[in-house]
Amino acid sequence: MTVIADALNNVQLIDHHCHGLMRSDLSRADFELLATESDWVEPPGQTIFDSPFGITVRAEVSPLLGLDRHADADTYWQARAAVGQAELGKLLMPMTGIDTLIIDSGFRSTNILDLNEMGEVARARTLEIVRLESVAESVIGHTDAAGFRQAFADELARRALSAHGFKSIIAYRYGLDFDPERPTDAEVDHAAGEWLADIEVSGRARLSHPVLLRHILWTAVGFHKPIQFHVGYGDSDINLHRCDPTQMTEFIRRTVDTGVQITLLHCYPFIREAGFLAQVYPHVWLDTGAILNYTGPSAVRLVRDSLELAPISKVLFSSDAFGLPELYYCGALIWRRCTAQVLQSWLDDDYLGERDALRYVDMMARTNALRCYDLGGM
Ligand SMILES: [Zn+2]
Repeated sequence: MTVIADALNNVQLIDHHCHGLMRSDLSRADFELLATESDWVEPPGQTIFDSPFGITVRAEVSPLLGLDRHADADTYWQARAAVGQAELGKLLMPMTGIDTLIIDSGFRSTNILDLNEMGEVARARTLEIVRLESVAESVIGHTDAAGFRQAFADELARRALSAHGFKSIIAYRYGLDFDPERPTDAEVDHAAGEWLADIEVSGRARLSHPVLLRHILWTAVGFHKPIQFHVGYGDSDINLHRCDPTQMTEFIRRTVDTGVQITLLHCYPFIREAGFLAQVYPHVWLDTGAILNYTGPSAVRLVRDSLELAPISKVLFSSDAFGLPELYYCGALIWRRCTAQVLQSWLDDDYLGERDALRYVDMMARTNALRCYDLGGM
């Protein structure tokens, strides 16, 4: 093994964006849904085990369950079901080599392990990222239109006490082509009235009002904590063509001097656009996140793209794993393997010396995240 591959195999990772593991045992249909961003189970005769992620799981996780590499789908599933979700978590999570999980606590949070439980299973420290839209939705029922601004500000301030950053899913709820202007108080009060009236009709507090989405974002800017943005690839709520991060360039421009850091998550297929933003704007960072799992054998090309233009000091590791221990395990494994391949090719071409290569391993694995999230001596 080369020096670089060895360093990448052994470095402890900070996973700067991930979610919790599912709490209970899964049906095969549950598993297949969690192994994709699709909202539909594969039609009869097809399986997610034949996707790049499924192929990776059957190659890499099968031996850990006592199976041959490349076990077939049914054999893998039977072995996994026999082990069970909880035991598989205990087996795989410590093997990821992730010592810090920065967890987005805002999605389906009752069915998934909380931060303390995640820390125990993974034997890692856990830090929280608070999802802005979830905070806004949580004040519904406790406020009226005129009180929304204050209620949201108070609740965000309360949640910010223990949070290390925020997450925005404006890409899902509107698009990254949002108006970069901070809405006025009167516009927010009016929009809150419209949203509350909507909730009366629909019975569902799902925030998608563009004025309020912009308002909660600008309120978050005032806290000077990092804000993660979902970018590109996602589930069927996404209109992918509106999730190119260059569509929020004006917002990025207006926040340069605010003290916030903007992290662009997974970015597929806009990885080069994200790299451009990270190069040009001092407070923009990127990762390849979930897309390494979902592209599996092709992931190295995307890691190469992510290192094409952005300074190495702006590139972060995340698994963006949700629910399945396999997503954490394979996410870390693929990232280590692909990053080693790319850095090794730079070494082989003598663009890079070994001392810098080892420094870059450490930066992308953890010290960039320490800087971005201001974790200092943690
Ligand atoms: Zn995520």
